[in-house]
Amino acid sequence: MISLGNLIVFPALESTGFGVFWTVMGLFVGSFLNVCIHRFPVEGASVWSPSRSHCPGCDRQLTWRENLPVMSWLLQRGRCLGCSASIHWRYPLVELIGAGAFYVAWRVAGGQGWAFLLLDSVVLAGLIVATFVDFERYEIPDQVSIGGMWAAPVVAFLLPVLHSSGLVAGALASGGEVDGVASLAESLAGMALGAGILYGLGWAGRMASGAEAMGFGDVKLMAAGGGLIGVEGTFQALQIAVFAGSLVGVLNILRWYAVVRARQRRRGLRLRGAAQALRTARVLGRYLPFGPYLALGIGIVLLGWKDVLDLLPFGLG
Ligand SMILES: [Zn+2]
Repeated sequence: MISLGNLIVFPALESTGFGVFWTVMGLFVGSFLNVCIHRFPVEGASVWSPSRSHCPGCDRQLTWRENLPVMSWLLQRGRCLGCSASIHWRYPLVELIGAGAFYVAWRVAGGQGWAFLLLDSVVLAGLIVATFVDFERYEIPDQVSIGGMWAAPVVAFLLPVLHSSGLVAGALASGGEVDGVASLAESLAGMALGAGILYGLGWAGRMASGAEAMGFGDVKLMAAGGGLIGVEGTFQALQIAVFAGSLVGVLNILRWYAVVRARQRRRGLRLRGAAQALRTARVLGRYLPFGPYLALGIGIVLLGWKDVLDLLPFGLG
């Protein structure tokens, strides 16, 4: 008997050939993520129509040759062929990151089958979109955060292995095996925990500084992430986010301090300006999005990147 599997010539998921294919897929998905980053925050815009890309400079529809990820940008030296308006380097960067994310997802999940490969790839893609939109506009698109909040419990129920080592799922597991219901419970607990902690942090920040410290987008993103990585994973992701976010926050204040000091020096204010410069730098450096660091934490935990997780002081694992 000839089975269907023998007829379809498709490389095994673990093979290098498939890895190359999946990485190239990531390059093209990166192109699509650019569209999402560009259109998600715009009210009423759809990522599907218009389906072809236009140059914002001359409104000309781009040919397939101008739409090749990274390649077109390099060949055209970052300019539109029609009006030579410059094309932002963000476009090829997101495409490269898309390829990198798909490669990493394949390395991690290629041996675990299609379900995990697709899950990891799609979640990383969503985190990339959230990161870039948040950096640019200080908001996280609902398509990613609320979309993730709907998807996480469904995925957890259909793929109980996702939470096979979860704290809540383990307690509810019947006969030692985590089933769909136990996995769903872990997902909901992770969502509640992620949203609850970020809401609490935002409330504490508002009380302490009188200013909006945490956007509601962060709360929704962490709820979605918590649903995918469970209770323990949520604690780990938050540790990574707080550490990375604080590090970048301090560096950002130092950068502003250097800028303000340089300006003072040009004006001939030498020593007594230092304290004033630090105050100014702290005000200027305060506005940093937190979403990208949450996304980093969620991504690392989802992929189970052990080298990083082992560094966490309260890893619980
Ligand atoms: Zn143009």
